[in-house]
Amino acid sequence: MTPDEKLPPPEDLLCQDVLRPFFHGRRLLIATQHGKEQVLLPILERGLGVRCDVTTGFDTDAFGTFSGERHRSGDALETARLKAEAVKQHYPEATLILTSEGSFGPSPQMPWAAADTELLYLWDSQWDRQNQGVWTAVFHTLETNYVSFVDYPSPECPLPEYPSWCSSWESLLEMTTAWGFPSHGVILGIKHVSGEGFSKIYKGIQDPVQLKQLFVQYSPDHQIRLSPDMRACFNPTRMRAIAACAEQLVTQLSILCPECAWPGFQQIKLIDALPCEACGLPTRLPASALWQCQHCQFQKKQPIQTKLINEENQATANPRDCEFCNP
Ligand SMILES: [Zn+2]
Ligand SMILES: [Zn+2]
Repeated sequence: MTPDEKLPPPEDLLCQDVLRPFFHGRRLLIATQHGKEQVLLPILERGLGVRCDVTTGFDTDAFGTFSGERHRSGDALETARLKAEAVKQHYPEATLILTSEGSFGPSPQMPWAAADTELLYLWDSQWDRQNQGVWTAVFHTLETNYVSFVDYPSPECPLPEYPSWCSSWESLLEMTTAWGFPSHGVILGIKHVSGEGFSKIYKGIQDPVQLKQLFVQYSPDHQIRLSPDMRACFNPTRMRAIAACAEQLVTQLSILCPECAWPGFQQIKLIDALPCEACGLPTRLPASALWQCQHCQFQKKQPIQTKLINEENQATANPRDCEFCNP
């Protein structure tokens, strides 16, 4: 169990009907340029009882692009918040706005593996004056085809599992196939002869004929840079992560705070340590989940259900998870 793993919510707290007074029949505006509504719309309409609209012509890329032309100025949460504010300026009549941000890079728990962290930011300006209407959901997964980039030709492939690649078309095709091409798009950048920046960038390539043409045309006298296209509409793996994040948002909202009865009582971290069944010392496994209200910040500790119970009716951990019994 990793520190940000989500446990199923306590059943006594979970009830979809509780959302009716907050969202039912309202219009929710999804800010996306890259087709995220394909997965967001059905989940949010079913889960919250809203009717979704999608922004048209709103440039979400102005807040940063994966291909590096524009860098994100703040972290994912700040960027999602800025996006929501900008959408509000464009659509002053909107009272429910959803923005999203994906972040890719090494997993904090397993730095050798790439991870995708999706964030959804729901802003309800109906309650804005009391600062009550902001909810976020974060979904973290190792299921991603993200790699930062690979240069062709290059004396050495930056991905250690493919040491001999990075010269021929065959090696390029094998590499991109490993990224899920052609169902997943790739980005091909033609590096400037000076070595600084790009003279041209082709995005969203999903046609092997086009990819080969570009390789044949440019590789003899240019260095080209390849990366998977992480934009949702070119990346079914990422689209699944966005869907999972939306499901998580709906689940989080469906749990009302026991203190203030506002939606969005959610698990924020795992805490404490289960004692070892054999020696009684604290183990690597958490004993409780800490829940917190996104509105009033009320916190509640929820013990984690385990099968191992000792004579004192205490939850315990298997000795294999004990540093002392199983160093
Ligand atoms: Zn032990
Ligand atoms: Zn509360």
